[in-house]
Amino acid sequence: MQKAKLALKTDTQQTTVIHLSEQVTVGGENLLIVGGPCSVESQAQMEAVASQLAIAPVQALRGGVYKPRTSPYDFQGMGLEGLQILSSIRKQYSVPVITEVMAISQIEEVMAHADVLQVGSRNMQNFDLLKALGQVNKPIVLKRGLAATIEEFVMAAEYILSHGNPNVILCERGIRSFDTYTRNVLDLGAVVALKQITHLPVIVDPSHAAGKRELVADLARAAIACGADGVMVECHPVPEQSVSDARQALSLDEMVNLVRSLRAIAAAVNRSIPVGAGTTPRLSLV
Ligand code: PEP
Ligand code: MN
Repeated sequence: MQKAKLALKTDTQQTTVIHLSEQVTVGGENLLIVGGPCSVESQAQMEAVASQLAIAPVQALRGGVYKPRTSPYDFQGMGLEGLQILSSIRKQYSVPVITEVMAISQIEEVMAHADVLQVGSRNMQNFDLLKALGQVNKPIVLKRGLAATIEEFVMAAEYILSHGNPNVILCERGIRSFDTYTRNVLDLGAVVALKQITHLPVIVDPSHAAGKRELVADLARAAIACGADGVMVECHPVPEQSVSDARQALSLDEMVNLVRSLRAIAAAVNRSIPVGAGTTPRLSLV
């Protein structure tokens, strides 16, 4: 870790608070709860997600439109049409949206429609992409690589920071191991370590770690209990029908209940989940 100059704390109290929008932040006392499907599938799907998660409420929505799939024959995402859906949802519901950018060539287009750009696990060490994202003025969610060490993860963040973008949110999403029962192993030890050594916000994605919906809520609660600054959870109006990652998707009701259950845990670790900002439906649609 010797070479990290910008990601590491200079004193133990140092924290960075990042704005996803005017009202929504991560890294301060308020936790960031992100919900939404693995993939954007249709306007109706995203409207169902946004309107129901406004009840929770979540502070931001997620939805992939460029999907890094293991098989080239699987659904690759809706692309621009999906971005346009995200755009309309963020305006209609006044909620920031997060979506993955897989290539430098997609940055401009994604910037025009999303509040936060996600770097997926498979791209954590795509150094050219990281350098290019250092030049954008929107927050980046950087997901830990499938088999990346904590040091490699921090150095990947350092690429973005050192190229001029101070707004990096680290996301632990499970790492590869020998066990096939879970999709990955959620490394909460890394969350605690990252919170100790870096000043950057650290969020947890229990969905890709677990790979099974019945494990997701408990892992999300454990993440908040151990000091994560938020969670990002996959959920869907009809989970079994998700075009990608169906097995790990929560229903929207389950997501609302999860957020409810997180409030007590948040309070126990001196954090809170905002009740207002995030997904207030607007009557005057743009
Ligand atoms: C995702 O968030 O949908 C995703 C593909 O995650 P990861 O890059 O962590 O596999
Ligand atoms: Mn997914």
